[in-house]
Amino acid sequence: MTDQTTTSTTTTSTTTTVGDAHVTVADVPTGLFIGGAWRPASGGATFDVRDPSTGAVLASVADATPEDGIAALDAAVAAQDDWAATAPRRRSDLLRRTFDLVHEHADDIAAVMTLEMGKPLAESRGEVVYGAEFLRWFSEEAVRIGGDYRTNPEGTGRGIVLKRPVGPVYAITPWNFPLAMATRKIAPALAAGCTVVLKPADLTPLTTLYLVELFRQAGLPDGVLNVVPASDAKALSAPVIADRRLRKLTFTGSTPVGSALLKQAADNVLKTSMELGGNAPLLVFDDADLDLAVDAAMQAKFRNVGEACTAANRFFVQEGIADAFTAALSERIDALRIGRGTEDGTDIGPLIDSRAVDKAAGLVDDAVARGARLVSGGQRVDREGTFYAPTLLDDVQPGSDILTTEIFGPVVSITRFATEEEGIRLANDTEYGLVAYAFTEDMRRGQRLAERLETGMLGWNTGVVSNAAFPFGGVKASGLGREGSHEGLEEYLETVYVLTPDPFAA
Ligand code: ADP
Repeated sequence: MTDQTTTSTTTTSTTTTVGDAHVTVADVPTGLFIGGAWRPASGGATFDVRDPSTGAVLASVADATPEDGIAALDAAVAAQDDWAATAPRRRSDLLRRTFDLVHEHADDIAAVMTLEMGKPLAESRGEVVYGAEFLRWFSEEAVRIGGDYRTNPEGTGRGIVLKRPVGPVYAITPWNFPLAMATRKIAPALAAGCTVVLKPADLTPLTTLYLVELFRQAGLPDGVLNVVPASDAKALSAPVIADRRLRKLTFTGSTPVGSALLKQAADNVLKTSMELGGNAPLLVFDDADLDLAVDAAMQAKFRNVGEACTAANRFFVQEGIADAFTAALSERIDALRIGRGTEDGTDIGPLIDSRAVDKAAGLVDDAVARGARLVSGGQRVDREGTFYAPTLLDDVQPGSDILTTEIFGPVVSITRFATEEEGIRLANDTEYGLVAYAFTEDMRRGQRLAERLETGMLGWNTGVVSNAAFPFGGVKASGLGREGSHEGLEEYLETVYVLTPDPFAA
């Protein structure tokens, strides 16, 4: 075995070396970060983080208890007033310094990410750039928090509207984008003057812990950002969410968990942001630029091995272009190289775990049983690790589970349609509404789609919409609130309105 993985043998160690034959990273943090210091979990428990491409243990990470969660909240609460009173320029500078450090350590972060999550190194590097942009964007927004001053309509008074940080934030992030989902929450919270307790996903905590260490090196004041990885997310989170001192819950993950968290948040009347599941339609119209549509479809589907809430889930292709589109896409799919994310030339890494493989296989088998035509792939890959072959299904029939389930894997499901009206109806036939993709060269049709598709985001002739400068988020069961852009900052601000009499009145 070529693995050089070494893990800490004592529970008090808070760093380790992770790696394989291709990449090795030293000093990866494995502790809890509370009140400005790394520490083991109370009681000393740890949980293992594994490489999905081999199943090998990469590291043992401190497993926060509910008491650790409350200790982290104590630290965030203690730091809140000072952080809110810290000059915006200083808050901005901390984010900007962390942005610079993330870029300095980009290769190591990408290696850690690929090892624990599985995606190819090139994609991990892409996430480092994307994730870092939230640090830069919100470092710029931190100094632009505004307000309002105006005369009331009666002319008898003046209204002053000011913005204040909402207060301590609890952030829960998923495993699929372990850097970007963390920066997308931490950066606006810190920019706004909020302190944070973050719980990363237990499948991929190492990237996030690495990021936190860079925040520490950038001069993070004690308690402003605290991180508590845990194997029992529910046990850790419930008392934090129920604590009266918490003011905001921000979550990215599945719709069922988001819905359960909203119920808990309701008891405490917390401000919430929820980035939940998607079931993105990808529409290709007869007038599309075929090459562009195929390129973009490959990105929309296979980025992150399909494990993205923004992944194109349901392809709807108009009859006149369907044969050409399917043929071109299957040629590209058949050329994809499967392998470990750390190996050169890999296009498709493993799925995160065996449940994810079972899910993809089950959806494909169901669709084929209901009459879909298997054009490419359609099977598990016979090698160690949790791999599923990139797959293309054509003529997927109504009633197939794949049309109503978030696939989270490298499977294309194509249904053909005749008219624009039918395409829009099919696209909207879901409880989700995160993102849609549409390929058409007709300007007016694109505008009609923008107004009629039930979605928070539309990629019009493009397969990737994520950008720190624009509001990311969904409608319907895909969530509440937006991340990125100036709107992402508003999620962490409270509005206060002051009325004062006309200063000129006698
Ligand atoms: P996924 O299917 O992408 O793993 P989940 O919604 O299950 O999505 O998980 C997203 C994040 O939510 C992870 O950090 C996970 O640990 C956390 N999580 C899962 N269940 C709960 C829960 N009941 N309470 C709090 N956090 C949870």
